[in-house]
Amino acid sequence: MNVVLLGPPGAGKGTQAVRLSKTAGLLHLSSGDILRAERRAETELGRKAQEYMDSGALVPDDLILSMMVQHIGREEAKNGFLLDGFPRTVAQAQGLDVRLAKENRKLDAVVCIEIDDATVSKRLTGRWSCPNCARVFHEEFSPPKAAGVCDACGQPLSRRNDDEPAVVAERLRHYHELTKPLVAYYRDEGILRPVSGRGSVDEVFEAIRKACPGL
Ligand code: AMP
Repeated sequence: MNVVLLGPPGAGKGTQAVRLSKTAGLLHLSSGDILRAERRAETELGRKAQEYMDSGALVPDDLILSMMVQHIGREEAKNGFLLDGFPRTVAQAQGLDVRLAKENRKLDAVVCIEIDDATVSKRLTGRWSCPNCARVFHEEFSPPKAAGVCDACGQPLSRRNDDEPAVVAERLRHYHELTKPLVAYYRDEGILRPVSGRGSVDEVFEAIRKACPGL
């Protein structure tokens, strides 16, 4: 089964993708995580992506498409994949369709997690993570025991550059302008599965599985 998780930044795509990929045995491919790994490894692609990511802009379509096509071509993706954060523009979606069709593959479902801007903005700007062990906290919903310090390893917590309030506003603007048109694109293809993102992690997980049998 080949699935896309669509929704604004902060909708919980990453959290749900980790769980769903385990239960359904799909390869989880997060374009944001792949780009962050490229940056850590200081590759040419990572260097090119850096400025766009830090300002909340989208990385150019050609760079993203060739990066994701390479990952979708991996042996582990042959039994099915779960895309998280990609595609994010109509051009990326068209490029993905063309590429899959060439290999006699296709998308089976696009789960769209629906949630309002105020809620995602609160989630993202309050998110802090440990640079050492990657544990994630939220200053209101899941605060660390001591403010600003990781419970697990005692390191000072940091905020992702792109979770700064001004950058979050920019990411949401790009979502509405460039990514939201994908809802109509996939509705026209007959594979859109809308789900409310407002409940707990467990509730949203169950709603996705109900909307998308096989996940
Ligand atoms: P994310 O972790 O999915 O929020 O992605 C972090 C950042 O990586 C985004 O704000 C973009 O700058 C970049 N990015 C991730 N996926 C894409 C994509 N499909 N197209 C363009 N830029 C992307």
